[in-house]
Amino acid sequence: MGKRFYIETVGCQMNELDSELVVAALQEAGYEQVFQRQQADIILFNTCSVRQHAEDKIYSALGRLKHLKEQKPGKVIGVLGCMAQKDQELILKRAPHVDLVVGPGQVARLPELLESLARRTGPIMEVSLDRRGQARQKVQASFLNPDRQDRPIVRPVKHQAFVRVMFGCDKFCTYCIVPKVRGPEQSRSPQEILEEVRQLADQGCVEITLLGQTVNSYRWEEPGCTVRLADLLEKVHEVSGIRRIRFVTNYPRDMSRELLEAVRDLPKVCPYLHVPAQSGSNAVLKRMKRGYTVEQYYEMLASIREIVPHAAVTSDFIVGFCGETEEDFEQTVRLVETARFKNSFIFKYSPRPGTKAYELFPDDVPDEVKRRRNNELLAIQNRISLEENQRFIGQTVEVLVEGPSKLAERQSGKTSSSIQLTGRTVCDRIAVFEGPVDLAGQFVKVTIKEVSPVTLFGELSLVKQDVQADRLGAPISA
Ligand code: SAM
Ligand code: SF4
Repeated sequence: MGKRFYIETVGCQMNELDSELVVAALQEAGYEQVFQRQQADIILFNTCSVRQHAEDKIYSALGRLKHLKEQKPGKVIGVLGCMAQKDQELILKRAPHVDLVVGPGQVARLPELLESLARRTGPIMEVSLDRRGQARQKVQASFLNPDRQDRPIVRPVKHQAFVRVMFGCDKFCTYCIVPKVRGPEQSRSPQEILEEVRQLADQGCVEITLLGQTVNSYRWEEPGCTVRLADLLEKVHEVSGIRRIRFVTNYPRDMSRELLEAVRDLPKVCPYLHVPAQSGSNAVLKRMKRGYTVEQYYEMLASIREIVPHAAVTSDFIVGFCGETEEDFEQTVRLVETARFKNSFIFKYSPRPGTKAYELFPDDVPDEVKRRRNNELLAIQNRISLEENQRFIGQTVEVLVEGPSKLAERQSGKTSSSIQLTGRTVCDRIAVFEGPVDLAGQFVKVTIKEVSPVTLFGELSLVKQDVQADRLGAPISA
């Protein structure tokens, strides 16, 4: 078996982190990463199951590889992640040319599984235990932690990193496949998390994003005390070298006062709160089993506005969930209008086999109605996002430069010392501006000239060195 591998990742930030760890583990085992499928001996897909569309894309990509596998049987095709855990044998049935099916709780074993594959014939399937009908401890133990004692030095972006603080989810929202495919909720110890953050800081990382499906449900029991996310933020805040700390995704019911006060009081913690509401209708929230009413969500927003008034709040919504009426949808519109989120991710409901909603409720909102509601809500959100961004015109904001913008990447053949760069403000707004190629990873000041609903367009006004941490990324005068 050859040693060049290619990996394609779809889905959330958890998947991005898992892929990063897979890449590091394979490189350490002597494999070489390539960036074109044709050059690879091993083709891996790290997959997502949250919506049908994400799965369809992988199945068609697998279909297109059938011919290649017939011509070159030595090539290895692997399906990793959530779809592997959800579909298991179905993948081998639908795509018999697949060699490896590896769930998210088993990806840490990938180098060893590739070795086994080379010594035998026939595919390998390694997945974690199903949550139904098994003891929690046993299921939990079958979801292996892919995080490691030593954070690999090889990372796609040097100055930014994801750090997982918890795995899995116990909320069981009726529409969602995550608790099934990512397993029981398990928090990592603060010691392990801090050690990882310190290593990242030593490697030059300045921005950390703490990850959890419901990151603010983080809970670690120690003799005599319970460590919650607010306490963890305080500890991470002490790590020198780290300049910005973010955390996603928040669960509305667990948005405590202590956490909001930590965001207010710890200057490195970004005032950016992603707290998905999913719907503005109590009837829908109840069928979704989200565990709060829209009134409670409004109260939570009021606490945010009281304690961290400058925070950028963002949300997710599902439109066309089972039984959603026009009146229910109008209530969602009202919530979006009232909350004035910085942005919202809006999804059409996608029934997921293996979830409670799939078993209990008919998917009775026609697709054209889902599409119309999606477009309507998106148009409203875009108008609000544009209005909120317009406040920044003429202001100077601090931006952590990420690298060339998409436009600059498309023009990568051109030789120029100045290119279009992209970066983010502390409130997670994307800023685009012209600047020297080598600014990636630095803090700069950008004066905003124009805006769109998703982007601030500006001019570089000051390159880091002396840029004071202008906390908040809220506008400061030029
Ligand atoms: N843990 C996070 C939370 O509680 O909000 C996000 C998990 S999920 C990967 C990201 C988003 O996908 C959810 O917030 C929800 O809006 C959407 N989603 C999940 N299941 C879905 C489904 N069956 N159909 C459409 N959207 C879905
Ligand atoms: Fe899915 Fe709900 Fe858990 Fe988020 S909280 S991952 S939406 S089950």
